[in-house]
Formats: sequence, structure tokens, C-alpha cells
Amino acid sequence: MASGCGGWPDEEMVAKDMFKAISAQVGRGILLRQIMVPLLPRSVVPQSRAFRQFVFPTAPLALCCLSIVACAQQGNGSRSRAAATGRYSPAITEADLRKRLFIFADDSMQGREAGTVGHEKALTYIVGELTRLGVKPAGENGYYQRVPLVPRRAPAGARVDTSWSRNVIAVIEGSDPTLKTEYVALGAHSDHVGFARRAVDHDSMRAFLRAGWEAIGRDANARGASPDQLAAIRVNMDSLRKIRPSRRDSINNGADDDGSGSMALLEIAEAFATNGTKPKRSLLLVWHTAEEKGLVGAAWFTDNPTVDRNKIVAQINIDMIGRGSARDVKGGGDDFLTVLGPKRLSSQFDQWVRDVNDKQPRPLKLDYEFDGDGHPQQFYCRSDHYEYARYGIPIAFFFTSIHEDYHQVTDEPQYIEYPKYTRITQYLYDVAAFTANQPQAPMVDKPKPDPAGTCRQ
Ligand SMILES: [Zn+2]
Repeated sequence: MASGCGGWPDEEMVAKDMFKAISAQVGRGILLRQIMVPLLPRSVVPQSRAFRQFVFPTAPLALCCLSIVACAQQGNGSRSRAAATGRYSPAITEADLRKRLFIFADDSMQGREAGTVGHEKALTYIVGELTRLGVKPAGENGYYQRVPLVPRRAPAGARVDTSWSRNVIAVIEGSDPTLKTEYVALGAHSDHVGFARRAVDHDSMRAFLRAGWEAIGRDANARGASPDQLAAIRVNMDSLRKIRPSRRDSINNGADDDGSGSMALLEIAEAFATNGTKPKRSLLLVWHTAEEKGLVGAAWFTDNPTVDRNKIVAQINIDMIGRGSARDVKGGGDDFLTVLGPKRLSSQFDQWVRDVNDKQPRPLKLDYEFDGDGHPQQFYCRSDHYEYARYGIPIAFFFTSIHEDYHQVTDEPQYIEYPKYTRITQYLYDVAAFTANQPQAPMVDKPKPDPAGTCRQ
């Protein structure tokens, strides 16, 4: 999910020595404010009115928004490294998703910012798996499509990076001689927002974020915690320090955003590739780059498609499907899944999405709140599916909503809801298979947008 506030690292790696120096400043049993002030990267503090208000309480009072705080802070997880060895099961399994996500969101990927070595390393993992599975490449150069990192909607005069990144594109060929020329597309974004030059203490940060998120009712629609609420948040770190010492963290691992979607897509690819019975239509799998820089990879792919764009009958976008518990989201739970977009172009596709869910062993509770016209969060315009919808392709965007770790150093794989993540992945596999097997493509019965126009929620 894009926020438009990712940072640009200027160092190859965050030095371990820096971590040590910073951690030495962390005392025991002191207020979170005292912990956070020395630890916060100075360079990002001014970006966050909310946090400036919190740490410098004499600053002018203003209503503040936690999601803005979220953008300003960066940091690294000293998580245990999952074993990268061992075989994967052909089926969609919780063990596979867990194993894949701990690799893809590992600190060694450095936050997967598009155009960086860390992101390329993450792509290498995806391409290695596709190669092993024998999935057909569908990029310009094998699986890859080169993408210039120029925001399509960059404001005039904006500093524009001239580097490149890459989409990864693959196809599972359909089994019907006629329908195989059509595609059901599935997408996720492989990139995230990188890392910071300074570390914060992971547990302090998570405790602060958790308390702030609770203060606003775990509600993505909330205006944000008030300065008084933020000032009232005091976290005694003694109990945590008894469990483990300070863990310095500067890497935005993006386990949920969008490691969850990227690894779900890989599990889905594996399941289709190893299943002897292929759907009638072909499946187009695209790991878009630079979503976090403004849907850049999806815009590039849909403007410069490597298959006939007119033959893409639907697109399923998977961006952040690993959270959404009752603890994470107001109204959330073990069955909670947000859906956006299908009915905006095709009532029929919307119906299929619901029908397939109804047939699940344990159906999910599909939530359409964020799909409302003019919804202030603008989620419909904030992920890759829109780049397909603007060309009149019916889309469905699946999402388990914002949480306190969104765009934080604390978006790590140990906080993912794996059983639910697995059920959602299986459901999306089923939506793709069902759509690919229908005799007719989903009918477009709503007006198509102007491909060059601006997205309207
Ligand atoms: Zn994001």
C-alpha cells in the first residue's frame, strides 16, 4: 500500500556500531518519550507533526495522525532468521507461506526499496522459485521488465530519480485452446520503503505504536490521536527488558506490505504450476515494482504490457493480507477481509468474488467499507489494481487493512496472522481459478475511466 512517504537511503547498510551506540542511550524503566528522543532519526522528525508534538511538547498543538507518524519512522528487526532450507509443498500451506515470508522480509533485503540492491535480491528469490517451478517467463528479458523509476504523476519540478527497477512477470498457460489466449491477472508489489540511517529501539517503537493505535480505537478512519493522548502514553520498558535487551532496528521489512501479497502470489504460482489440471484461461502473474513510489511498476506494465492488454479479463490485486485481527483493526477478526473495486466495473465479477467465498470451507467476512465512493482513505487509488482498472479491466483488491505497524520498522513476519493469511491465499487461488474457468469473461457493465485521467475513489 502506497503512502507517498518512503525514504531514500544514502548508505549501503546501517552500521552495527551505530546500533550499539544508540542502544547505550536506552535506559531502564524510563518514559517512552525519553527513550524515543535520542533514538529517533533526526532527519525524519520534522516530517511528523504528530511525533514532533509528542517529543517536543512545547511545539504548537495540532491534531495529529498516527498514519503520518507511521511514515516518519524507520528502523531493523533482529528477528530470528528462518531456515531457508527445506522443500516447499506444492499445495498452499501455512508452513510454506511462513518460510517464504521470513526469507522475503528478512533484514538482508534491506527494506526492498525499488532500485536498491536489497530489492533486487528479493526479486532474485522470486525468479529463482519461478525458474525452479518451470513457470513460463513473460517479461521482456526472461521474467524481468525494466521499469524507469519516474512517477507517472510526478508534480512539475519534483526531483525525479533516474534509476531503474524491474517488474517480474510470468504466465501459467491455460488448458483451453481458445480461452488460453485470455488472461486472469494476479498481482502484488515486491517493493517496500527501504531503511533509515538511524535505528530506533524495536520494542519501544512497537509499544508506542500499539498504545497510540489503541488510543484511536484501532480505526483506520480515525483522525489520529490528540497531542494529549500521545503525551499520556507512557510505556514502562522494564518488563520487556527482562525478556530481552534493546533491539536496534532501522529496516522497514514490509512483511505485510507487501511481503504478504508477494509470497501469496508465489504460493499461488506454485500451486497452479504443480497442479496437473490447468484452468482454461491463462494466468498472468505480475510482481510490480515501485508501488510505494506511486504505483510506478503497475503503471508501466499496463502502459507497456508484455501480453495483449485487451486479453486481460480481470485483475486480482493482493496488497497486505497478513493482518486484520481484532487486535489490529476495529471490526477485525479471524475472518476479516476487505475487498475494494470489483463492482466499480463489473457487477458480475463482484458476484463471483462473493460466490467463491461462500463456497470456502470457512467463508471469510468480506468487508466493503473502504470501497465506498469518496471514502477519505482513498485506498481504491492507493494500490496497483487501479492501473488496470483505468483501462477498463475489472479488478478486485484484497486487503486486511491498516494497522499500527504499517510503514514501520515493526512490520515484521513474526506479527503476521499465518492461519488466516493461508486461508486468504487459498481463497484468492480459488477466485483466480473460478474466473479463469468461466465460459465468458466477467461482463463490464459500468463506465470505464479515462486511462489518462486521475483516479477517483
Ligand atoms: Zn506500503
